[in-house]
Parts: sequence; C-alpha cells; structure tokens
Amino acid sequence: MTSAIVTKIVSLRAELPPQVRLIAVTKTRSVAEVRAAYAAGLRDFAESRIQEALPKQAALVDLADICWHFIGHLQSNKAKKAIAQFHWLHTGDRLELLERLNRLAGESTHRPQVCLQVKVRPDPDKYGWSPAELMTALPALTTYTQIDLAGLMTILPLGLSAAETLAAFQDLHQLRATLRQELAQPDALPELSMGMSGDYPLAIQAGATMVRLGQAIFGPRSPRTGG
Ligand SMILES: *Cc1c(COP(=O)(O)O)cnc(C)c1O
Repeated sequence: MTSAIVTKIVSLRAELPPQVRLIAVTKTRSVAEVRAAYAAGLRDFAESRIQEALPKQAALVDLADICWHFIGHLQSNKAKKAIAQFHWLHTGDRLELLERLNRLAGESTHRPQVCLQVKVRPDPDKYGWSPAELMTALPALTTYTQIDLAGLMTILPLGLSAAETLAAFQDLHQLRATLRQELAQPDALPELSMGMSGDYPLAIQAGATMVRLGQAIFGPRSPRTGG
C-alpha cells in the first residue's frame, strides 16, 4: 500500500506544474495512508467531514507541519470546530456561514483562509453560489476582516464531456477576473481550487492553483452512504 502511494505521488508531482498545490483528499482513508503520503512529501491534506477528521487529526498531531483543508459542506454549528482544526476552508457557500466564520475567527487566534464555492454550472445536488449570487454578495463579503477570502472553489456536476469540463473551469477563471475588476483589486482571490482525480488535467489547463486528489493518490475509494 505504502509504496503504491509513494509512486503515485512522485509521478503526480512530476506531472503537475510546480506552483500547483497538490492536496491529498483523505476521506475514508486510514491514518497509515495519510502517513505514507506525508512521508512522500505531501503536506496538504483534506477532509470533508468534521467528525471523521477530528480523530485522524488527533492521531497525526506529531506531524506538526500538516496543512489541513476542509472541503465538505460546512454546517453552521460546526464552524467553530472547523476554524480550530483547519487552515483552509474551501466551501464558503453562503453569506450566513461567512458572517459566522468572520465573527468566530475574531474570537479565536486562527485566521482561516476561505475559498468561495461557486456552481459554475447549475447543479441541484451541490452547494455553492451561482456567479450572479456571488456578484450580489460581494459588497458584504468585503466587510469581513477576520477571514481571508483566498480564492474560488468549484466541484463540477457529473457527466460533462472533456470540452464541457474545460469550459466550466475556464468560466471559474473568468469569474475571478470579473470579481477582481468589480473589487478593483487585481490580486484578489489568488487561489482557484478546482480539479479532482477525474478532471484535474483540464483544471490545470484552465489555471487551477490547487487540485484536490483522492483516488489518483490512494486508489479507488469504496462508496459510503451520505456523501
Ligand atoms: C472527495 C472529494 C475530492 C476528491 O475526489 P477524488 O475523485 O478522490 O479525487 C475532491 N474534492 C471534493 C470536494 C471531494 O469531496
């Protein structure tokens, strides 16, 4: 198991442009698998459920330089735990959540890096802003001083062709350009968190700065119920 993980990471790292951050998605994976990826040099790890992450993080506290990313839907009542346990929150998907994160971050010593989750294609099964909703919310978002609005994140709907996938990722890139213009901040929202095991080469082609890979590193994931 360990040597297969190391081999995958070495070849991914050689394939990815050096500035792209490779985030290992460790949901459903064991602590031993996380350690194998860490030993291969990875430092960015992502979980999608707080309750699954907490015991794993506790078992890995000796790896002090791990950077933890939260990539699941964040319920408001878990916001405080999320700020305490994760450096990056990729799923800022609604005003009420961001307002709460801002307030809680102000009461904590942590300053979360938050990505805004955007649905670049309509998808009833996913959370996130439509581009129009995000434009409307932008003035309110800029008043949050305790969190860093670090970038945009997207998860595409299933079943898109390669051409449709590339176009959708390019739309997120273009939306970022529009938001920058609106904010009159040419460097705003530096990160584009897009690309999973099935589509990351297209995401990189469209300017991804962070790819979130699970199966490409750890092999097929056995399905579980409830996401
Ligand atoms: C599970 C998950 C991934 C990784 O998916 P893989 O197919 O294993 O690469 C990436 N992003 C999010 C938000 C996820 O939930």
